Amino acid sequence: MSVNGILRKLPSVDSVLASPGVTPLIEEYGRGLVRDIVRDVLDKTRADILNGGQSADTPMWKSKIVKETEKALRLICSSRLKKLVNCSGVISHTNLGRAILAEEAAKAAYDAAVSNVNVEYYIGSGARGDRDDIVEELITRITGAEAATVVNNNAAAVLLALNTLSEGRQTIVSRGELIEIGGSFRLPEIMSKSGCVLKEVGTTNRTSLADYENAINENTALIMRAHTSNYRIIGFTAQPSLSEIAALAKSKSVPLMIDLGSGTLVDLRRFGLPHEPTVQETLADGADIVTISGDKLLGGPQAGVIAGKKELIEKIKKNHLKRALRCDKLTLAAMEATLRIYLDPEKAADRIPTLRFLKRGIEEIRQTASEAATALSGFFCDAAEVSIMDDVCRAGSGALPEVDIASVSVAIRHMDMGPNELAEWFRRLDPPVIGRVADDLFRLDMRCVENVEEIKASLPTRP
Ligand SMILES: *Cc1c(COP(=O)(O)O)cnc(C)c1O
Repeated sequence: MSVNGILRKLPSVDSVLASPGVTPLIEEYGRGLVRDIVRDVLDKTRADILNGGQSADTPMWKSKIVKETEKALRLICSSRLKKLVNCSGVISHTNLGRAILAEEAAKAAYDAAVSNVNVEYYIGSGARGDRDDIVEELITRITGAEAATVVNNNAAAVLLALNTLSEGRQTIVSRGELIEIGGSFRLPEIMSKSGCVLKEVGTTNRTSLADYENAINENTALIMRAHTSNYRIIGFTAQPSLSEIAALAKSKSVPLMIDLGSGTLVDLRRFGLPHEPTVQETLADGADIVTISGDKLLGGPQAGVIAGKKELIEKIKKNHLKRALRCDKLTLAAMEATLRIYLDPEKAADRIPTLRFLKRGIEEIRQTASEAATALSGFFCDAAEVSIMDDVCRAGSGALPEVDIASVSVAIRHMDMGPNELAEWFRRLDPPVIGRVADDLFRLDMRCVENVEEIKASLPTRP
């Protein structure tokens, strides 16, 4: 049959809508959406026929169109954002949504979501309030900062602080810190978008105090340091200490801003990990402004915390850009609840999942790995070889760059599937289980799996 002949046999939108198979779809999804999808399916079928993809005529056009429509509707109406099991070996994985909230933070966000809340309202006086009041006191109490504000994320925090403090003027940054962070955060681009003029000093591996000093002139508005989150410069290197730069900044009356990136509010050495500068130490060492992410090591919702000198924070709060970068009530509620946990650092390590994962002892991880291995080898039987192995994972999100954290993985070799195929097979589970392939071996890192049921629940009833 000719292409035109086939095209003529396609049913009309109305006749598809009138067919009995479509009635339940209209009931479930609404007539408007179903009509749109039928139209899309017909358009696509027509295009396929014209491209020669559907050369044969079929007497079943209408039922084929109905089936396609149903499939497309199910896809549109199923959730794209899926809960998944993080066995990736990266504790705070940006692509996997970074931090898991503490119970009380999740509950606070839920309560704020389903109610009206006093996000900018003084209950006592009935007057209009300031949304920073929700978290400012907690941040200052925990960090020792004079004042604080929060915005949408740390990129927004850096943008807002630079725009407020240095628009049209110079910000001095060491060449060793002109970083790019995954997902297109490039410090030089953010600086130019903020309207400040980047004044690079030193070299990639070495910058001296004199380099900073010589660069300061009447047009200098700010000295900035950035945590080199995702790499380390090793070998022949030099950087003045924070207190040295702070002393210089102070003597020249130039504010010093530190983008700590992940930042942490507790000393990670208490978990046997290497040192990451805390916000408290950074402020105590003389930084005037510190910015960090809310959902990296802090373990809260996506947010950017700006903490520091009252005079500077006041200017930042008054910047009209702040309105475009502000947090919503869900974020503020989750942030407040997360910060409240930090009032007792001992509790924080147990209640904030990110810290709990970091702190978790290797024997406990091994125990979970062994339970998971038993479940998986029972599932695969002879089709796969399942073992547990000592492994290493990463903190992720730019915290503790290049630091290997001991962990235990379940390693699986499948008789019929290669490691990448096996990784895909696990990704297609419900909920998906995200593992990784290293040295040609598929692994499920167990540091972030606290309960083996999370893995068991994903396994289909039959292989
Ligand atoms: C992660 C990071 C950022 C960006 O923070 P977001 O919260 O993802 O916007 C900025 N600077 C540094 C040093 C970082 O590590």
